[in-house]
Formats: sequence, C-alpha cells, structure tokens
Amino acid sequence: MMDAPSVPSGTSRVRQEDFIMCQSAQSQRPIHSHSKNAANSAPSPRNHVESGSRRDFLRMLMGTTLAGASVLELGYHRAAWARAAAGLKGAGNLFGLEQAAPGVFFAQAFPQAQVNCNAAIFVRSRDVVVVDAHSKPSAAASLIQQIAREITSKPVRYVINTHFHWDHTQGDHAYRAAFSPIDFVASSATKNLMADLSVQRVKESLDEIPARVEELRRRAENTGDRAEKAFCDDQIAQLEAYKSELSNYTLELPTITFDRSHLLPDPEFDLHLEFHGHAHTAGDVFVFCPRHRVLATGDTSHGWLPNIADGFPRSWPKTIDEVAKADFKFVLGGHGPMRPDRIVMTGQRNYIEELTEKVLAAKQAGQPLQEIQKHLTVASLKSFRADGYGDILAGELAASTPHYGPMPPLQDGVNNNIADVFRNLDQV
Ligand SMILES: [Zn+2]
Repeated sequence: MMDAPSVPSGTSRVRQEDFIMCQSAQSQRPIHSHSKNAANSAPSPRNHVESGSRRDFLRMLMGTTLAGASVLELGYHRAAWARAAAGLKGAGNLFGLEQAAPGVFFAQAFPQAQVNCNAAIFVRSRDVVVVDAHSKPSAAASLIQQIAREITSKPVRYVINTHFHWDHTQGDHAYRAAFSPIDFVASSATKNLMADLSVQRVKESLDEIPARVEELRRRAENTGDRAEKAFCDDQIAQLEAYKSELSNYTLELPTITFDRSHLLPDPEFDLHLEFHGHAHTAGDVFVFCPRHRVLATGDTSHGWLPNIADGFPRSWPKTIDEVAKADFKFVLGGHGPMRPDRIVMTGQRNYIEELTEKVLAAKQAGQPLQEIQKHLTVASLKSFRADGYGDILAGELAASTPHYGPMPPLQDGVNNNIADVFRNLDQV
C-alpha cells in the first residue's frame, strides 16, 4: 500500500485519492511535449499545488532537508540551488511520476538540455529506496521534493547507483545533504569506476558547454522564428545553470558495494540487487522486486538507443539473457518510458547482438568503419523490424530529445553505435 502522503510544512497537504486520480489522469496524456522547454511545460499531476511553490522548494532545500549539512555546505547549496531553482521557472517538476505497483513508482525525466536519467522509487515499511540520481544535485533535490509532496514523508535511506555514468550519479550529493542516515549502493566495479573517472567526466561535460552554447547562440541570432529563438535561449539557460552548479562538484562514492548480489530486506518487500555481467558498463546493477514483479535496469535496458561508449557489446546480450530469467513484468529503464512488457528489452538485446555480429564480420573482412556505417542501415536491421522495436525507438527518441524542427535521423545514432561497437569489440 502507498502510505498517505504527508508533506513538509509550507506545502499543501495532498490526499491519497487526489494522487491516484492525478496519476490515472496523467497516464492518459503524453508526459512529453515537443514544445519549447518541455521540462517546464509538461503536464504535472500537481500543477494546482505548484503555483508559488518556488518558495517551498527553496524552503525545503534550505531548511529541514539540509539539517545535516555543515555551514560551509549550506552556503554552497543555498547559492547553487537557488540559481538552479531560478532556472526552473516556477520550480516545475523535472519528472513525471507513474505508479507501477503498490509502493513502486517510476519517475520519468522530462527532456533537459543536459540529460537526467529516470529514477525508480520503492516505498517500503520503514524507508524509501531510490534508484539513480540524475545529472545534478538540483535535479535530485527536485525529485526529493516531489517524492515528499506526492508520494510519502518517509525518508530516503538508500540510493542505488546502477552504474557510474554522470547522468545517474552526479545528483547523489543532494541525498547526502537531505537525509541521515543515507547509503549509496553500487557494484564494486562501479565504485572503482566512479573513483577513477567521475571527476574527470564532470570536467569533460563542463568543457563541452561553451561550444554548445555558442552554436545555440548563433542559431538564435540567425533564425527569424521567435519560437526557435525561445527554444535556443531556454537550452542556453539550462546549460549555463548546469555549468554553474557543477563547477562545484562533490563526489559521493558508494558506501555499500558488492560483487554479485546484495539484499535490502524489509517486511513490506525485499529488493534484490544483482550484477549479471558486463553490459552498458563493467558494473551494471539490476534492482529486482520479486513481490511486485518489477525490474529496474539502469541503462542496460531502456527505451532509447543503447549507449555503447563504455560498453561490452559481445557480453551485453548474455547479461540481458541472465536477468531475463527472473520473473518480472514491469521494466523501469534508465531512460524512456516504463514498460509493462519485455518488448523493448528484447528488441534492444537483439539489436545489440545483430549490430555486433555484423560489425564483427565486416571488421574481420577488413572493412573500415565509414564503409560499415554506409552499409549497415536502419532499413537493413532485422531487429528493428521485429515487434515494431524500430518504430517504438524512433517515437521515444523524438519524444524525449529536446529539439526544435526535425529530429536528426535514427541512422546518426546507429552510426554512433556502430563506431562504439567497432572500437569495443575486444571488451569482454
Ligand atoms: Zn543514462
């Protein structure tokens, strides 16, 4: 059962029936918008509560939730999160909430210039467990507020980082600032990768921003279309807010690690954390809730094209086959919508396998990368045609990628995948 939501002082109290009604109303309409600034214009289940809620957002960030922070930390958070909140234009939600099962929620990230991952939220008898923490502390803080306002007053006790990537871990510090005790749980491999790479990856993401801003600025200057200019201005504002916030990054290394599996027991329902082999990274973790037949997959399975940059293309399908032996119905991926079936999981698995086989054969035959990219087309991929996987993928990418005007063709993403497979074929 979902417990009756209670909220921090200063926000309107929300009745459970309201929440459930809003959830079902929400599920009947698209949660993404192609319009400018989709993150802020997307429908929210709590719009009537949110008017004037920036004050509440800041009060929560600066008040009760930061009780454990040092004076220095407080100063930093006040400045950084106030800037971030100002960028939210009324502190609109960054996530659309959906209920998968009693006590199990899916927070789908709305499109942002700097990608946020989704979160899976498990509300149990004593605590809340959140899977993944987005690209910045202010995004995690926004979800913390949304959980308190719309789901439960119980504290978050564990944050699981499914893997080390920036869009899943850089918000961790907001949970440290908001809750005590708090533990960050990940595979041992993920902890090592975070220790080695996280700070560098933050720096790389910041280094890319000036060129992206410059391109958007040029586009804004050259267009006669006011809506396109507004889109560019909004993207620029988001990128600059990210840069400003992440210029002062606090790495939170996992405090609980494991090699193969770890159990988070609870009288309400247990959560099984499992590592099944290399896939999207060397340390991907699945979170399995047998009681409600839910599987949170991080980026090992989701509704976008897979990201194979740090991936293991030859092992990935086998890793999916291992986890697929479990009895689950709902798949809560790191990006794209929740799935009440295995169509996308199977489609992505088969796509990676097909792409890998074809790239391997072509590379062994001596074909250069550019040649392979020319011949391995979207139309030639059998896995895209099965169960409409290619169409689902194209639709989800268009819905969740901030863009104005036509989307880049799916082939661009496939070409990136081909290049990553080509480079990572020997990774096993
Ligand atoms: Zn991701």
